[in-house]
Amino acid sequence: MYLAERIPDVDTHTHTVVSGHAWSTLSENVYAAKKRGLKGLCLTEHGPEMPQGAPGYIPLSQTMLPAKLDEVRIYKGIEADIIGYDGSIDISDKYLPYCEFVIASIHQPVLPGGTTGQNTDAFINALKNPHIDILGHPDDPKAPCDFEAVVRAAVSNNKLLEMNNNSLSELRPGSLPNLIRYIELCKKMEARICVASDAHFHTMVGNVSPMMRLLDEQQYPPQLIVNLTITSFEAYLSERKRRIN
Ligand SMILES: [Zn+2]
Ligand SMILES: [Zn+2]
Repeated sequence: MYLAERIPDVDTHTHTVVSGHAWSTLSENVYAAKKRGLKGLCLTEHGPEMPQGAPGYIPLSQTMLPAKLDEVRIYKGIEADIIGYDGSIDISDKYLPYCEFVIASIHQPVLPGGTTGQNTDAFINALKNPHIDILGHPDDPKAPCDFEAVVRAAVSNNKLLEMNNNSLSELRPGSLPNLIRYIELCKKMEARICVASDAHFHTMVGNVSPMMRLLDEQQYPPQLIVNLTITSFEAYLSERKRRIN
């Protein structure tokens, strides 16, 4: 299968200086993406509830950006914060329609201390929002959830689940056992996934080799990796348009 040697065409989770605690500009990220052979990247800044995150109107603001820069397709997205166990997020319905791709994540500065039951509810409820495409790093041990219930909900809502490369770095310590259990369940339930860098610096863009090696070891079916080719990612985006309209 040789997944270990592949780099997905599209990095579905990247940040710029607009997120408040990332270091590169969009131009630097695009340059790095091109150098690595990527065909696209999702611009997914943090939402307004994260300290120094982007303003709530950022999806509208992003419409002034080109669709392509240096031949790299820029998908205008957001990494919204889940702000309540009812699955509500920090981007309003007024601005969500401007997004081409929406990640919903639990971050400790915004929604700390949830129990496994509360976090599971938050994820499952967020998946019911038609604008939300994918859950960001649900394997984060700081926000424990019931993987079986969350993966099942993603599959039944035709949504995606993220394999976040930072879960294999020192940024999310203690993730590996969680991550392996999560991958096993995703595989068992044939969940569609995206493999993403969650880059906060341009050298990280498209650098998902550790996660690809792990998915290779777990023999994850390549056809379930939605962002592996830009064609399959675009096909998902067409599906999303039909879902929202
Ligand atoms: Zn995040
Ligand atoms: Zn992120």
